Amino acid sequence: MTSRAGEPSGSDGRVLIIGTGHAGATLAGLLRQAGHTGPIELYGDELDLPYQRPPLSKKFADGELERWLRPAEFYREQDIDIRLGEHITGIDPAARQVRTAAGETRGYDHLVLATGARPRALDVHGTDLNGVVSLRTLADARVLRKCVDERRDLVIVGGGYIGLEVAAVARAAGIRVTVIEREERVLARVASAQLSEIMTAHHRDRGTRIVTSAKVQAIEGSDGRVSGVVLDDGRVLGCQAALVAVGAVPRQELAHDAGLHCEQGVVVDANARTSDPHVLAIGDVTRRPIGNGVLSRLESIPSATEQARQAVSTITGAAPAAAEVPWFWSDQFDLKLKIAGLIPATPRTAIRGDPATGRFALFHHDGETVTAVESANSPAEFMAGKKFIASGARVDPARLADETVPLRDAVIA
Ligand SMILES: Cc1cc2nc3c(=O)[nH]c(=O)nc-3n(C[C@H](O)[C@H](O)[C@H](O)COP(=O)(O)OP(=O)(O)OC[C@H]3O[C@@H](n4cnc5c(N)ncnc54)[C@H](O)[C@@H]3O)c2cc1C
Repeated sequence: MTSRAGEPSGSDGRVLIIGTGHAGATLAGLLRQAGHTGPIELYGDELDLPYQRPPLSKKFADGELERWLRPAEFYREQDIDIRLGEHITGIDPAARQVRTAAGETRGYDHLVLATGARPRALDVHGTDLNGVVSLRTLADARVLRKCVDERRDLVIVGGGYIGLEVAAVARAAGIRVTVIEREERVLARVASAQLSEIMTAHHRDRGTRIVTSAKVQAIEGSDGRVSGVVLDDGRVLGCQAALVAVGAVPRQELAHDAGLHCEQGVVVDANARTSDPHVLAIGDVTRRPIGNGVLSRLESIPSATEQARQAVSTITGAAPAAAEVPWFWSDQFDLKLKIAGLIPATPRTAIRGDPATGRFALFHHDGETVTAVESANSPAEFMAGKKFIASGARVDPARLADETVPLRDAVIA
C-alpha cells in the first residue's frame, strides 16, 4: 500500500462517514473486512440502527419493518464508532474537519458523504395536513402501517416504483387505492412503455384506480386532516390518507456548501472520488458515471453497494473492481420484477414468456446487442440478460423470444 508523502496510509487513516444508510453502513463493514486498521466513525442523524429501506414500501403492513443491516454488536466487534442521532452541519475541507450539530469538530483523513436523498416535496397547498405522508424512513413506514390498520382510503401521488409497491400492499390489505400520475403512464422515467402497460393492467385488475396525465392542484382537509386530493381539472379524489411519492432529491447541501462539484447530486468518478481528493461520496447522493461518459443518479441498493466497494478500493489502495451492470428490483403483488441495464428511449424488444401468466422477460436490444432486460418471476432470464449486457454478446432476438430455445443458444457464435 503506497501513500503520498506526508499523508497517512489509506489502511490506517481516519475515515469519517456521514450517513448511516445502506451506503455508509456497508462501507464501514467492508473497510474493516478489507483490513483497514484506522479509526472509522459513522455519523447518522436517524436514531435507528442502519436498516434496509426496500421493505418499507413492501412490508409496511405485516410487521417485518425493522430489518437491521447488522446487529448492534457488529459495530462494537468491528471497532466502528457509530454515532446515531448526530447531525453533521458543515465541512471545512481546508482543515479536513466536520462540525456536528452539538458544536464539536471532528478531523478526518478520508471523508465519505453517504447522505442519501430525501423525498421530493409536492409544491401544492395542503401537504402539511395530518394523514399526508412521504416514505423514506422507518418512522414514515410506521405512519403508513397505521393508515392500513385503520383501513383508510389512500391516494398515492406518483406512479413510480415506491408508489406502486405501496399501492399493491395497501390493495392486498383491502384498502381502496387511487394512484395519480402526472405523466401519460406509470413508471414513465424508469421503465419501458411495455412494462408500464403490463403493470398498469396488473394493478387495475386488482382493483387499484390509476389516473394518468393528472396534475395535483392541492390537498384539501377538514379539522387539520386530509380529506381529498384536488386535480387541476377540478376532480376531487376523496381519501383519509395520502402518500406523496414523486421521487427523491439528493442531500447534497454539505457538499455544495463545502465547494464540491455538484450537479443534481455530488459528482463522482468511477472510484467514488469527488472534486476534493480527501472527500468521497457514495449512494443516492451521488451523480455517477454509468458508461459512455454519461453521468446519472442511480437510486438503488446494488449501486450503493458497488460504490461502497469503489470507496474501499480508493481508501485502501486495493485494485478497483470491474464496473457492474446497473440493476434494481421491485415486488408488486405476485410479481417479482428485476430490471438490469438502461432502458432505451425507443426500444426494440424480444418478449420471452407471457405477461398474462405473470412470468416474462422483455429483452431490449439494438439489433444484436441486449441493452436492458425487464423481467418478472424469471430469475434465469434476468441473469442471462444481465450477462448479455455485461459481455456485449451478439444475440438473435428471435431466439431470445422463443422459449423452446435455451437462452445460451440465443448467442450468435
Ligand atoms: C421505500 C423505499 C423502497 C426502496 N426499494 C428499493 C428496492 O426494492 N431495490 C433497490 O435496489 N432500492 C430500493 N430503494 C432505494 C434504496 O433504499 C436506496 O438506494 C438506498 O437506501 C441508498 O442508500 P444511501 O445510504 O445512499 O442513502 P440513505 O439510505 O438515504 O441514507 C442516508 C442517511 O444519511 C443520513 N444523513 C443525511 N444527511 C446527514 C447529515 N448531515 N448528518 C448526519 N446524517 C445525515 C440520513 O438521515 C440517512 O439516514 C428503496 C428506497 C425506498 C425509500
